[in-house]
Parts: sequence; C-alpha cells; structure tokens
Amino acid sequence: MIFDTHAHYDDEAFDEDREALLASMKDAGIGCIVNVGANLETTRNSLDLAHRYDFVYAAVGVHPSDSAELNEDNIELLREWSEDGRCVAIGEIGLDYHWPEPSRDIQKKWFRRQLDLAREQRLPVIIHSREAAEDTINIMKEAHAEEIGGVVHCFSYSAEIAKICLNMGFYIGIGGVVTFKNGRKMREVVEVTPMDRILLETDCPYLAPEPYRGKRNNSTYIPYVVEEIARIKGISKEEVERITLENAKNMYGI
Ligand SMILES: [Zn+2]
Repeated sequence: MIFDTHAHYDDEAFDEDREALLASMKDAGIGCIVNVGANLETTRNSLDLAHRYDFVYAAVGVHPSDSAELNEDNIELLREWSEDGRCVAIGEIGLDYHWPEPSRDIQKKWFRRQLDLAREQRLPVIIHSREAAEDTINIMKEAHAEEIGGVVHCFSYSAEIAKICLNMGFYIGIGGVVTFKNGRKMREVVEVTPMDRILLETDCPYLAPEPYRGKRNNSTYIPYVVEEIARIKGISKEEVERITLENAKNMYGI
C-alpha cells in the first residue's frame, strides 16, 4: 500500500474526473493521501475532500506565493480549521524565491507565523522551499523546527542541505523528479537519506514521473518513484512501500 503524502486533488486539473480518479485509488494500491492546502480557498477544499473520502486527510496552510493574503484574522481561521479531526499537518508553508512576489519579508513573516501555529497546535509542518535554502534553514533553526517536526516536500536542494534537514529530524519528500534524466541531484539526496526518513509524494497535478513527465500527475504513478528509490537503495519495491508508509503514518500521527 502506498501513502501519497502530498497531493492537490482540489486543483482544477482534476475537475473532469476527480470522483472517478479518487474512486480508483484503492484498487491501484494507493491507501492514503494527504491533500495539501496552498491558500485559504484550497485549504477549505482540502478539508472538504478529507471529509468525503475516508483515505484522504488534509493539511491546512498558506503557500509562500499566496502569503500576502494572510493577516492575524486569517491565522485564527487556519487555527480553527487545524482543529478539524481530518487535519494532520500545517502546510504547505515556506519560502519560494523563484517569483519576485510576494516580497521575501512577507514570505518570511508568514512562514515564521505558521511554524508557531504548528507548534501551538502540535502538528507537523509541510515545508515548501524553492531557491531559498539558506533562509529556510535559518528560519527553521530560529523556530526550533526540530521540536515541531515535519517534511521538506519535493526536495530540490543538494545532499548537503538534505543532511541539515535530516539533522533537525525532518523527513524528505521524494516525487517524480527522482525519475528524470536530469534528476542526478535528487538521486544523490536519496542516497544520503536513510530509508526511515523518506516520504513518497506526487505534488499532483504537477511533476509527473517518467514516462509521464509533463503530463498531469496522479498518485497511481507513484510506483515509478518507488521503483527508482528501490534501485538506488538496493532493496525491493515492497520494502520501499512498507517503510515509507510507516514513515508517513508516524509523521502525520495516523
Ligand atoms: Zn504542493
């Protein structure tokens, strides 16, 4: 059984066939999915999905690219939502310097604030970090993220940075990129990450693995990621599925 620790099934890319696709998950060996909020609207939609499907859970949070919509009232709203029994994490939160907006100061402020929220609510965090390794690590250290716990999802940095996150007790989220021809850096990250710290994820509809690269991603493609991790680690695909399932359950407290 596979646990997809990071998906966005509320995305409009699934409007045509969402129900049918989710109904097919169990037969495809996908036992659990966490649908991750990226702003207030998608957080609400994630909770809605988690209430309609017993194998779907939700993460409540605002992505750095949408962090300009945050204020203290909205943080209170996130707090209320995070008390929902179907919410298993605060996320996705973090820093994304790929785009110029919102400003780095705004992103940092709400990253810190949502880390505090996770601590207060005793929930793990799902961290999104892109082109912002140094600031992400600094804020994690400042906030004593090792006491909060969580995952750096869709990890895109070097093995060196991975080791720093691992030393803080974090999990590393591995998805389709590890199968890409130019995914060497990602394969090095898998090499240095102990099996008991790897989580499987799609980030669907984005980042489909080979041979579906560029197409719409979904959880039933995770076996391609499993196969690549099994090859790198020299263990069976069943072992990869079993251990990563255990890891996800541990982290999310399911
Ligand atoms: Zn995501």
